[in-house]
Amino acid sequence: MRIFENLESEVRGYIRSFPTIFNKAKGAKLTDEQGVEYIDFFAGAGTLNYGHNNEQISKALVEYIQNDGIIHGLDMATTAKKEFMQTFDSLILKPRNLEYKLQFTGPTGTNAVETALKLARLVKGRSNIVAFTNGYHGLSQGSLAVTGNNEYRDESYISRINATFMPFDGYFEDMNTLKYFRKFLEDGSSGMDLPAAVILETIQGEGGINVASKKWLQELEAICREFDILLIIDDIQVGNGRSGEFFSFEFAGINPDMVTLSKSIGGGLPMALLLFKPDLDQWKPGEHTGTFRGNNLAFVASKVSLENYWQNEDLSNAVKYKEKILKQFLEKIAQKYKNEYEIKIRGRGLAYGFEVKNDKSIASELSSYCFEEKLIIETCGSDSQVVKFLPPLVIDEELLKEGLSRFEKAVDRLFK
Ligand code: PMP
Repeated sequence: MRIFENLESEVRGYIRSFPTIFNKAKGAKLTDEQGVEYIDFFAGAGTLNYGHNNEQISKALVEYIQNDGIIHGLDMATTAKKEFMQTFDSLILKPRNLEYKLQFTGPTGTNAVETALKLARLVKGRSNIVAFTNGYHGLSQGSLAVTGNNEYRDESYISRINATFMPFDGYFEDMNTLKYFRKFLEDGSSGMDLPAAVILETIQGEGGINVASKKWLQELEAICREFDILLIIDDIQVGNGRSGEFFSFEFAGINPDMVTLSKSIGGGLPMALLLFKPDLDQWKPGEHTGTFRGNNLAFVASKVSLENYWQNEDLSNAVKYKEKILKQFLEKIAQKYKNEYEIKIRGRGLAYGFEVKNDKSIASELSSYCFEEKLIIETCGSDSQVVKFLPPLVIDEELLKEGLSRFEKAVDRLFK
């Protein structure tokens, strides 16, 4: 189907999954050029936690521009930057007893990851980074080297970067995968260079909504401390409240050395941020720079979103409440078809996966059926075998239920 007629790009894009042209959006709804409304369970892959065109965010942005606010300031101190930093510190870091320096990187998630990997190597003077099966950290050369999906990795550009993969929690059923890691670190015959850092998501977003357990994360942190390895949590997709807490690692009580944030941290605008423990600040002045570090409009949007949703941890409670609705609904569907299909439901907060174990192609078909039911939902996993539920966190209960019933209709049509 040629959507853009002569303009259609040959490069892979979502136009294949969602063959229409969208032109408006509000909250958890998208509208296309024909005026057809869709419920959005994709939320820009976790960028729109606060919804499309969030009223308070839009208002603050318009006011800022009308008052000649600074749009671009390189690394200059600006009021927007100062106020964002103060708000982030007082509403997010202080209440959690976290002490981090903030480094604004290039605008997109992979820029924060690149910065983390570079800083870890600088601080430790070692090049190896340990990443995990099914992890996704971006597609630029450094971040791709720690992304565990062969669909994106090509020998020609991947081979020179030192990274080792270890099995993520649950990769082998009924086995503690960290036994491997420990053994490889202890055993001189493993061929593994002592890593500068490990990098992981606590819930693998692109990799199939694989959820690391509290115990596994605590044990990983203990290994890092024992072997002097830095612990980097990539919270780009499941941070900002997606898991039910602001940071996805909070439930495990671990204290990462670095945290990457992007997607929703800019309230929907491009922004990426690296948090690192103050003693890791070993950059020489100007050693890691770039033109679009920190976007003043994103600072404004971010400050407003933090003030509106994190003052009393309101969003955290709302996410936990909506998680119950989502989980119960998906489990009900799994139950309904349990004789025909082995369906696995997993997730935390408002990041859930629906996987049909005995047929990998079903998830993509379901996504297309959902599009026909006016529900935008994507797939994830190395074979696109998991349907990924990622609605805006602020979605109304009623709209969440309506989206879920559209999903059920799609499942019924496909399975019956
Ligand atoms: N890390 C994680 C966990 C992600 O989900 C993504 C994007 N899906 C990235 C890094 C890369 O971010 P970006 O696409 O903005 O470069």
